[in-house]
Amino acid sequence: MSEAEARPSNFIRQIIDKDLADGKHTSVHTRFPPEPNGYLHIGHAKSICLNFGIAEDYQGQCNLRFDDTNPEKEDVEYVESIKNDVSWLGFQWSGDICYSSNYFDKLYDYAIELINKGLAYVEELSPEQIREYRGTLKEPGKPSPYRDRSVEENLALFEKMRAGEFAEGSACLRAKIDMASSFMVMRDPVLYRVRFASHHQTGDKWCIYPMYDFTHCISDALEGITHSLCTLEFQDNRRLYDWVLENITIDCQPHQYEFSRLNLEYTVMSKRKLNQLVTEKLVNGWDDPRMPTISGLRRRGFTAASIREFCKRIGVTKQDNMIEMSSLESCIRDDLNDNAPRAMAVIDPVKIVIENYEQGKVETLTVANHPNKPEMGARDVPFTREVWIEREDFREEANKKYKRLVLGKEVRLRGAYVIKAERIEKDEQGNITTIFCSYDADTLGKNPADGRKVKGVIHWVSAEKSVAAEIRLYDRLFTVPNPAASDNFSETINPESLVVKQGYVEPSLATAAPQEGYQFERIGYFCADKDSSAERPVFNRTVGLRDTWAKIAD
Ligand code: ATP
Ligand code: MG
Repeated sequence: MSEAEARPSNFIRQIIDKDLADGKHTSVHTRFPPEPNGYLHIGHAKSICLNFGIAEDYQGQCNLRFDDTNPEKEDVEYVESIKNDVSWLGFQWSGDICYSSNYFDKLYDYAIELINKGLAYVEELSPEQIREYRGTLKEPGKPSPYRDRSVEENLALFEKMRAGEFAEGSACLRAKIDMASSFMVMRDPVLYRVRFASHHQTGDKWCIYPMYDFTHCISDALEGITHSLCTLEFQDNRRLYDWVLENITIDCQPHQYEFSRLNLEYTVMSKRKLNQLVTEKLVNGWDDPRMPTISGLRRRGFTAASIREFCKRIGVTKQDNMIEMSSLESCIRDDLNDNAPRAMAVIDPVKIVIENYEQGKVETLTVANHPNKPEMGARDVPFTREVWIEREDFREEANKKYKRLVLGKEVRLRGAYVIKAERIEKDEQGNITTIFCSYDADTLGKNPADGRKVKGVIHWVSAEKSVAAEIRLYDRLFTVPNPAASDNFSETINPESLVVKQGYVEPSLATAAPQEGYQFERIGYFCADKDSSAERPVFNRTVGLRDTWAKIAD
């Protein structure tokens, strides 16, 4: 199968195929237009993969354009993080970065053109009155008393707006379209408003800023965009998109197409809500590994390939739906299962003392990094008289189904010897403090000589030679599948979305680099956190070994 056949088609690619076949376009030019008012999230990844993916596959171009018309909410910190996330996802924008603010002069001239054509007027009703006059879905709006001002008066007033002679909210520029339109967006939409705010790109040059609907279509046309892809909530705005471009002098007529946004269970996706989580310190920043942001997922240990694969699997349609968290997780699990080296870590330790093993002796065992990929090599793991195992891997008594260590029985330590639990020591509360064992020196890499069957294998780390580590176990951030639906979504935060454990990791992990994924044998997939140091490694759980979501749903 060729690569083109392997690529799932979708209704947008079908439109592009037709446009190219019909000769409507000879090449494809898309854009990804984030507003720099927050960090990118997994929903943006869907749009990025769609826009940049189309440009790649059709040998076209894709611009990265900052849709920066709301200076109060925007910041260069967001601009930088967005550039970084797009690159990290594996995409390269065409040419220089674009900013809608690059076009402020041109946009102003187009506004003048609309005024000259009698298609725009300066409004002096208050924002509340504008809302009142607009009418409802059932009732037509009524015209503003300022709607029929002369062109000369409008030109003079618009110039006054630009010169800073109107207070915020006391005047705006509106398109003169149709106050009775069944599309609310066509009832004389606002094109420009007064804002005395410094802009991260244009500084204090402007005190009037263009609205999204006016800016977006013109920016697309100025950049020669052929297919302008956005999410379904902009469906009605397409009328306005086309109206603006039809009524100004511009020789490019891009077309807008809408697809459904990505919604993921057990998280929120709106930047406003994500911002609230950050500012109210309900999470530890935009890159908290519980966040659905690209930076959060990256810190959690998701690879760019796994996010691209997820976007491929969910596809692009016009149907609104809610995707299960398990679909995202299975993408990273599949990736790491194939590619992550194995290692051993104990996250809830109990001590084993092997009484017949020589005190002070350190044996260096060689353990394969991947069970079916010999090319991934092997590493040295020190074995000593005292080792840590997981508390849940020992029972005083158990039935045959329990294939771990039981008092009086044997188990194999992964990559090492068979040991037998002889006796235990407990503290005053009855907690086991030490399990005293014996080992069979003749079982390294082979079964016991007398044919004894030892079925269980458990993981371990040397107590003398391991490194103490902080292990951060993450779970879903919310307790309900659709937190955005509740009035106070912050009340549905899962108090156990982060559980911190103090454990031990094998020495080879002390210098693990952030974002390098490992399978901690029998536990899950982990990566070092940016808070990590060689003295005090910190690991994030990326995902468990198996899907635990099905269970949660019961
Ligand atoms: P939010 O509601 O999170 O603030 P937004 O649409 O305001 O999102 P933008 O920065 O304007 O955020 O989005 C840039 C692009 O990403 C837009 O084309 C938008 O349609 C797309 N996008 C945003 N959220 C999603 C999503 N959940 N699924 C798919 N595409 C999305
Ligand atoms: Mg937006």
